[in-house]
Amino acid sequence: MEWTTEASGELEKVPEHVRKMAKMGIETSVEKKGKGIVTLEDVREAAQRFGALMEKDEKDNKTTRIAVVRCDIVSETCPGVACFKSFNKRKVHFSEYGPDTEIIGFFTCGGCPGRRVFRLVDSLMKHGVDVVHLSSCMLMDTGYPKCPHIDEIKKMILKKGVKVVEGTHH
Ligand code: SF4
Repeated sequence: MEWTTEASGELEKVPEHVRKMAKMGIETSVEKKGKGIVTLEDVREAAQRFGALMEKDEKDNKTTRIAVVRCDIVSETCPGVACFKSFNKRKVHFSEYGPDTEIIGFFTCGGCPGRRVFRLVDSLMKHGVDVVHLSSCMLMDTGYPKCPHIDEIKKMILKKGVKVVEGTHH
């Protein structure tokens, strides 16, 4: 595929690490138009398209990803409906989140003293978790006693650089 001098110059402005990909994309779209030469207009048209895609990516990157850790003992009797209801309606401890917030993990501590929190937070970090909520069942004395290991669990998560919020639906 031939390129005009102006088109080649314009392509040079594309960051090097994506230039090859951009070139291929432009040539494919020019081919589809039934043309054999890439002009400045073709490059600018493509730049607008890529720009829109990049904006979308940036938007996706702004998504807040949260997870909830809850008491393993309580999970025997609680399916977590109240936590999810509260998140879905952005209530109580979820009220600060916007519509672009996703819940990416909901897991139990693994039993006293919270033996699998460390491992699972590591795994969530690979998926970009921003915040871990300690479920209300860990913090309250209603039906089940408050978690005696809550402080260690909280410190463990904070040490990894992940924000902690105490509570979900209460
Ligand atoms: S460590 Fe706390 S949250 Fe986990 S099972 Fe024990 S009491 Fe429940």
